[in-house]
Amino acid sequence: MRIASVGLSLLRLPLVRPFETSFGRMTGRELILVDVHDADGAVGWGECVADADPFYSAETTTTAWHMLEKYLVPQILGREVGSASELPDAWTKIRGHNMAKAALEMAGWDLEARIRNRPLCELLGAPARPIESGVSIGIQSSTGALVDRVAEERAAGYRRIKIKIKPGWDLEPVAAIRKAFGDIPLMVDANAAYTPDDAAHLAKLDPFDLMMIEQPLWEDDLVRHARLQQQLRTPVCLDESITSPEIAADALDIGACRIINVKPGRLGGFRASVAVHDLAQARGVPLWHGGMLESGIGRAHNLHLSALQVYPGARSATPHP
Ligand code: MG
Repeated sequence: MRIASVGLSLLRLPLVRPFETSFGRMTGRELILVDVHDADGAVGWGECVADADPFYSAETTTTAWHMLEKYLVPQILGREVGSASELPDAWTKIRGHNMAKAALEMAGWDLEARIRNRPLCELLGAPARPIESGVSIGIQSSTGALVDRVAEERAAGYRRIKIKIKPGWDLEPVAAIRKAFGDIPLMVDANAAYTPDDAAHLAKLDPFDLMMIEQPLWEDDLVRHARLQQQLRTPVCLDESITSPEIAADALDIGACRIINVKPGRLGGFRASVAVHDLAQARGVPLWHGGMLESGIGRAHNLHLSALQVYPGARSATPHP
């Protein structure tokens, strides 16, 4: 296929309800949509998961737009490729900016799926299948409000519950959920809010039999995560830290995590995501697929990738924060 033209759009969407994590409170979502066209009129869509602010990752919508417009799109315009999996070869000299790269690469995968008239998941290596969904619940104003939210999400059909935690909002909310709902599939995500000095405190989560604690320490702290994992019975899952298949391999080699959260935006696209999936499968490591407050386009991509996954992912219905 040949990419004949590329469009970029900047969207600002309000969230149904505010979403609070250890790094801040969001009331809306700014995102970039990418549309790629072949010469015959077929179009594929991609979504850039970078946010307006550099709090989850260093990339922002401003940096992604700049990288797409000035560096990435010019590398693929008019380029003939046999498959979207070849697109990342066009920007091997460009360092970083995985979210910008992923948006363009994933639009290319969507274009290829449409040209071939096949489900995207099949191109990624998985047959279409029903996928259990989980949901991520932000930090609430009280444990009572949290229990109400969990009840609401379970009534809506979500199987796995993930809650955001931070220092001062961890043991008590987890205990409240266990007390109200018993042994439901439950996990927590710290978004890098703790330090190695918090190891003894985080070990107090062990009796709650959580599926995992996600990204307790800073994203560069692979070695410190390995030391922390040795002090916890709860499996550590890495999210922000996993920016390439090579780093995923390093993290597993040194015991920095026992579970991996695969996000194609963070990894630079589907090719790298499938590589991480293959690595985890070869080593018997569970992985799952978290969301990034995407619009329906990004969530559709997530669903196709989730056909490869093990744990229920974090995707929820599109109106959901
Ligand atoms: Mg996370």
